[in-house]
Amino acid sequence: MYTHTAGIPKIVNSLRETFQTGLTKSTDYRRQQLKSFLRLMRENQDEIIHAVEKDLHKHRVEIVSAEIAPVVNEIEYMLENLDKFTKTKTVKAHYKMNAMDKCTIRKEPKGVVLIIGAWNYPINLILLPLVGAIAAGNCAIIKPSEVAGNTAEYIASIVPKYLDPRSFAVVQGAIEETTALLTEQFDHIFYTGNGAVGKIVMTAAAKHLTPVTLELGGKSPVIIAPDANIHTAASRIMWAKLYNGGQTCIAPDYVLIPKDKMDEFVSACRKIVKQRYGDNPQDSDSYCRIISQRRFDTLQAYLDGMDPKKIVVGGESDRNDLYIAPTVVGPVASSGHPLLDQEIFGPILPLVPVEDVEESVRIVNSKDTPLALYIFTDDKSTREKILDSTQSGSVVVNDLLLQAQEHSMPFGGVGPSGMGSYHGIKSFETFTHERSTMIKSSGLENIMMARYPPYSESKSTLV
Ligand code: NAD
Repeated sequence: MYTHTAGIPKIVNSLRETFQTGLTKSTDYRRQQLKSFLRLMRENQDEIIHAVEKDLHKHRVEIVSAEIAPVVNEIEYMLENLDKFTKTKTVKAHYKMNAMDKCTIRKEPKGVVLIIGAWNYPINLILLPLVGAIAAGNCAIIKPSEVAGNTAEYIASIVPKYLDPRSFAVVQGAIEETTALLTEQFDHIFYTGNGAVGKIVMTAAAKHLTPVTLELGGKSPVIIAPDANIHTAASRIMWAKLYNGGQTCIAPDYVLIPKDKMDEFVSACRKIVKQRYGDNPQDSDSYCRIISQRRFDTLQAYLDGMDPKKIVVGGESDRNDLYIAPTVVGPVASSGHPLLDQEIFGPILPLVPVEDVEESVRIVNSKDTPLALYIFTDDKSTREKILDSTQSGSVVVNDLLLQAQEHSMPFGGVGPSGMGSYHGIKSFETFTHERSTMIKSSGLENIMMARYPPYSESKSTLV
């Protein structure tokens, strides 16, 4: 049930009142909330799986690995590191005048933050940033995506049972409710979704000078170098492309492959699809569905615009079942077709044949800076050449998607694929203000006097 827009200012105000009492700043409170959050995830695993299944019709293995485990790991990580992260840091003063003083950096919560999630990992993308917001001592409003409506409804029902409603609230809704939320003043806005809405969020935030984290999307390329093992590359790329039905922000979007390796790659893909999903992937319970008819129609239009001879694997679809078969198309040119000009966000993999690695790099650099870049090579100089001549939010060499699991590495985009990052300590830092605090003695005024007028040449050496 959507939240009444008229009630939104009251929700924000009540969280702000709580924040001002200092309740969420205490580390004991944060720890207690995080432990309760952990219980939420553990005690309700089956219900969470059920809600996500209803929205995305995917296998519970994918739900546990992509939705539940990352949130649980993040909570455990924050609990283990809370004392370390929240500790005031003492730093050395560099100016002579301050040499006797205590210079510290206090890790303070930003205040009341807003987290807006996307539908494709409807638990992970809303609850994982919430872990960081709680650990950092904030009050938070979360706004799950209405597109994954069953999961949003479930989140709204379960969160108030485990997290303190004085400090944390769920707002449900679509454009109208999110627009109403965005007119309110927050101390940080964390948004995951497409870049067009990212601009709306950033424009609304600018009105209050609110900092933003934008976790956006784009076309994440795969560069296959001439030395790569084609079977291994195909195996890992097809896993990453078909995981969640290709509806993953860091899914491999298109593959740049040496011309003479195309046939080998295509026949490996064909074999892999059969091994993993059988003769008819529509019958496999391991294969996810497209989220909505609107998204289905976009993907279908991509395929309809393609020369049928170029659909070399799959291509079948069923609108009533929101099913699009694991599909490989190629050879295709590097631009001039929606498949190469827009983010695909579905189980369709275009292959772009190239002469050499230099051509691959030129193609990558001709498009918006991607969220992820994948490179298949064991050759160090090829790897370094590609890394040095491209940009992306993250890179994985010889595999895909796994960078998102590592809370030791920041997760985020660059340029059109996003700004800011999170996961692990970066989540904590995203929702933290580092408050420089200098503590001077009220004594020693005769030394401090050196900075006061009337000035003289000799005083300039003292300050
Ligand atoms: P979506 O439709 O769920 O929208 C995201 C959020 O924006 C929702 O909560 C929605 O209610 C809100 N919203 C939509 N229109 C709005 C408007 N006009 N004003 C205010 N709020 C509005 O998700 P989506 O945008 O379809 O998500 C897919 C995109 O997100 C892809 O581009 C994908 O790559 C990207 N994505 C990025 C990440 C990441 O971590 N970088 C993760 C997942 C998805």
